[in-house]
Amino acid sequence: VVGSVTAGDIPLLVRESFPLCMVSMYGALHEQHHLKHEGRMQFGLFLKGLGLPLEEAIRFWRTEMAPVAPGEKFDKQYLYNVRHNYGKEGQRKDYTPYTCMKIIGSTPGVGQVHGCPYKTFGQDSLRAALSRLQVAPAKVEEAVLKAAAGHFQLACASAWEGKHSCACDSGINHPNQYFEESRKALE
Ligand code: SF4
Repeated sequence: VVGSVTAGDIPLLVRESFPLCMVSMYGALHEQHHLKHEGRMQFGLFLKGLGLPLEEAIRFWRTEMAPVAPGEKFDKQYLYNVRHNYGKEGQRKDYTPYTCMKIIGSTPGVGQVHGCPYKTFGQDSLRAALSRLQVAPAKVEEAVLKAAAGHFQLACASAWEGKHSCACDSGINHPNQYFEESRKALE
């Protein structure tokens, strides 16, 4: 529900409850202070789906991008894009967050970090990324094997299980569903 999450909540939520696709994009944004257009769409709509209101989204993006797009540069180049995701510009469409199928179907080019890491990462990078997320080692290996077999959403469900120490009965079909199941499990 839009309205319940603030920009300041995001770093903790990343560590506790974001799926690897969104952890990876948050990491790239935080380090490079920039995401290409597709990444800003995929990540921005996910954040909207968490319940981050527009004003908090603007605060979040402005802060993260400040080293490369300070002040008016952000307003001129990126503010429209954030407002557009919330249906406040252009055709005023209420864009919905992307499903796993849509994300898996995207093909990130050089320098782009959107897409599903279970598909786009090599085995070593995947193993390292899941270990950094503190996924239980046996579940890291399970996820790596499933990803190598092309079962990306099953790999993501294994990672969820290894992160939360319980079964993921519903499977994973949407990054926002991953997040919601996580919050329920942590209650
Ligand atoms: Fe994200 Fe879905 Fe891939 Fe998991 S399976 S990393 S939620 S796109």
